[in-house]
Amino acid sequence: MALSGDEVMDIEKTVSWGFGEGPMIIAGPCSAESEEQLLATAVALKATGMVKLFRAGLWKPRSRPSSFGGEGLRALDWLRRVKEETGLPVAVEVASPLHAEACLKAGIDVVWLGARTVSNPFSVDEIMSALRGTGQPVMVKNPLSPDVDLWMGAIERVYKTGIRKIAAVHRGFTPYEKSRYRNIPKWELAIELRSRIPSLPVICDPSHMSGKAGFVPEIAQKALDMNMAGLMVEVHPDPSNALSDREQQLDPVRFIAMMESLVFRRSTSDDSGFLNRLEEMRNQIDSIDHQLIELLASRMRISSEMGEFKCRNDVTVFQLERWLEILRTRTQHGISEGLDAEFIGTIIRMIHDESIRCQDRATEQLRREGGCPPASQQVKEE
Ligand code: PEP
Ligand code: MN
Repeated sequence: MALSGDEVMDIEKTVSWGFGEGPMIIAGPCSAESEEQLLATAVALKATGMVKLFRAGLWKPRSRPSSFGGEGLRALDWLRRVKEETGLPVAVEVASPLHAEACLKAGIDVVWLGARTVSNPFSVDEIMSALRGTGQPVMVKNPLSPDVDLWMGAIERVYKTGIRKIAAVHRGFTPYEKSRYRNIPKWELAIELRSRIPSLPVICDPSHMSGKAGFVPEIAQKALDMNMAGLMVEVHPDPSNALSDREQQLDPVRFIAMMESLVFRRSTSDDSGFLNRLEEMRNQIDSIDHQLIELLASRMRISSEMGEFKCRNDVTVFQLERWLEILRTRTQHGISEGLDAEFIGTIIRMIHDESIRCQDRATEQLRREGGCPPASQQVKEE
């Protein structure tokens, strides 16, 4: 099936995968370590009544070859037991066509493509050729690097095999600098993906974002506040002795405490009082945005005029002081109005960059038309 670059994908919400209404809560250990460990976790998770899908890694993509690489094929039998004993559907990461075929054969309900696999389009294609025509539900984690096209490309590759039960899993991106996150969320990328494929459920994995058990609830709440479609959380009966991702796994008691403390807000309401007030506030926002755009346009028109003006007068202006003053005064003003200093600084820098570009364009045009002396050592500044 051909999929042109702009075709809108029509993906089935997890309700129609058979998981019911409400957030898609996925939980389970990072790795399957033994039948007992899987059963103990699954029984505890089932008892919460909140978990819809049990996860476990059988083939672990470890950075170092000396780390635990997973129990592999034999753990498929353990998962079969989990299903029989608890009735929970099960999900497994697949990283090769062999894994995918084995999962199909073992009746694994959902498979997922891990961050490393998604980073390699050849691997995605190979795995998907084993799943073509099966209708197997597939979750696609974000790639290691913050590249929304690569993430979307993997989803398109899954879609092209005829699969419609697809979800994305947002697990954050490898930090290149010191960060409080193991993987930086960069929420804007998940928002971008959601706006490109509105029907796609995007589930958050706060465990791999945080890298630390104590930090998981805060990220999980943020994901719910952003109306994400669900959570994938690593839960282990004895995290300090886990064979992988020891620091970030919650034990069942901590998992239940987190689930009870999370605030699940509705994404909308039918209450007419609420809807009317919301509509009113949205109108106010629309009007303010309109004014902001008009003001920005007027500001840029003045910048263009200023470019021409400087050019005609062959003025060499270097006004670092002027820029520093703009930045300082606007930031102070913003802060006094209750805005975040970083936010106002970013906005002012962006406006200033665009203003410089407008001046530049006006100057170049005038120069081409012979309206001002040839380029001297003019330095552009407001
Ligand atoms: C995992 O879910 O255990 C895992 C290896 O995740 P990721 O692919 O996000 O690193
Ligand atoms: Mn893990």
